[in-house]
Amino acid sequence: MPIATVNPATSETVKTFPPHDDTEIERRIAQAAAAAAVQRDSGFARRAEWMSSAADIIEADADPLARLLTLEMGKTLAQSVAEVTKCARAMRYFAQNAEAFLADEPLADPASVSASKAWTVWQPLGVVLAVMPWNLALWQVIRFAAPALMAGNAGLLKHASNVPQTALYLDTLFERGGFPVGSFRTLLISSHQVPAVLADDRVKAVTLTGSEGAGRSVAGQAGQHIKKSVMELGGSDPFIVMPSADLDAASTTGVHARVQNNGQSCIAAKRFIVHADVYDEFTRLFTDKMRKLVVGDPMDQATDVGPLATESGRSDLAELVDDAVAKGAEVLVGGAIPAQPGWYYPPTVLAGLTPDMRIVTEEAFGPVASLYRVADRDEALRVANQTPFGLASAVWTSDPDEQDWFIRTIDAGAVFVNGMTESHAELPFGGVKNSGYGRELTKAGIREFCNLKTVWKA
Ligand code: NAP
Repeated sequence: MPIATVNPATSETVKTFPPHDDTEIERRIAQAAAAAAVQRDSGFARRAEWMSSAADIIEADADPLARLLTLEMGKTLAQSVAEVTKCARAMRYFAQNAEAFLADEPLADPASVSASKAWTVWQPLGVVLAVMPWNLALWQVIRFAAPALMAGNAGLLKHASNVPQTALYLDTLFERGGFPVGSFRTLLISSHQVPAVLADDRVKAVTLTGSEGAGRSVAGQAGQHIKKSVMELGGSDPFIVMPSADLDAASTTGVHARVQNNGQSCIAAKRFIVHADVYDEFTRLFTDKMRKLVVGDPMDQATDVGPLATESGRSDLAELVDDAVAKGAEVLVGGAIPAQPGWYYPPTVLAGLTPDMRIVTEEAFGPVASLYRVADRDEALRVANQTPFGLASAVWTSDPDEQDWFIRTIDAGAVFVNGMTESHAELPFGGVKNSGYGRELTKAGIREFCNLKTVWKA
């Protein structure tokens, strides 16, 4: 895949970048390794100052940066602005909380282990490689980089090939904030160059956000080298609607949850599992709202849904829909590629799904919703848990017993009750099953790339 900015709204190539060669890769890894040594001893207070100053910079750059995000991957400008704001907020959150999250923890009763004193300390691992996706090209990187750098690590970024200008913006951001030169370095490389970087002794760990296939490959290599890894992979999140739900609110939120980021979010609601008693009414409300969405130029303030980010992503999505339709699914709205430049795909609602259809178990990465009619909560749970994924989920019911039951039984890294799944710096984020392992954000996220060292004193 060439490393290039290609405008998804027009399919025009804007700028192409040659990949870094071995000499440049070596120079950047060496810079990161040198910076990691400085970072380690720099102290929380100074790192917090640098991180806060980087947050100020990102906010000051909000306008051009948001336009760049929209240019490179097609999300609406309003959502790009929101992404920049969210990044600045998370950077300040880790600036303020890192020290407390990584404070030493004394053992209350050291005599129980025959010590005069025993405690634990969290120490940085060193250089951490991040392999990142294009869909939230700034946020995915910041939610790794802010905690990793605040913990005293250095970061190396291999970003998705279609967001090179965002990757290059990130290359200098932390230095501009005051971090030591090389604390965060972008590598403009293809995925086939990742194994050599991961094998390098100076690289201590890896985090990957992306597809299941990429996760299998990179997690496998990390295993070979016995290096710590965190995997944030795909999802096909259920959105369950039970009879006691507020259907108007559920359908409005459900539409937003499905089409946010032009439908290309790992935690988008993808499968709408609706109790038979309210299926017809929910379907009517939901389909009407999907039909009314404005699809168009992502730079236009009136647009709700822009193009998909890549041509291949659109083909993959169209294939999933075509497969379902060929096997008997009903298209309630959308369902066909429009005749216009750019990689647009309309908001689409499918019903009448059967287990032989690929979309039942695979991830639909675009604005395509699948509707499932279920007889009771047991069937709702069975359908919710029937994919290989387990990232997040949403449940709409005002019955407290039903809420508790779903919270306990859904196989997912998160359950949102009467709302849509969102990521916040204050909430742990991550999945189970083929959605990956490890957690990002909160104190759980900052601790992933630390050595929890035990100290015992006679
Ligand atoms: P992707 O194709 O897996 O790419 C993600 C990153 O991995 C890119 O930098 C890509 O580089 C690289 N990559 C791909 N194959 C690789 C390999 N074999 N070895 C090393 N690196 C490799 O995913 P995407 O299409 O960009 O993003 C969409 C996927 O990410 C969806 O499945 C979505 O659900 C998932 N996602 C998950 C989360 C989460 O937190 N769980 C968040 C966002 C997205 P190239 O671009 O050069 O191929």
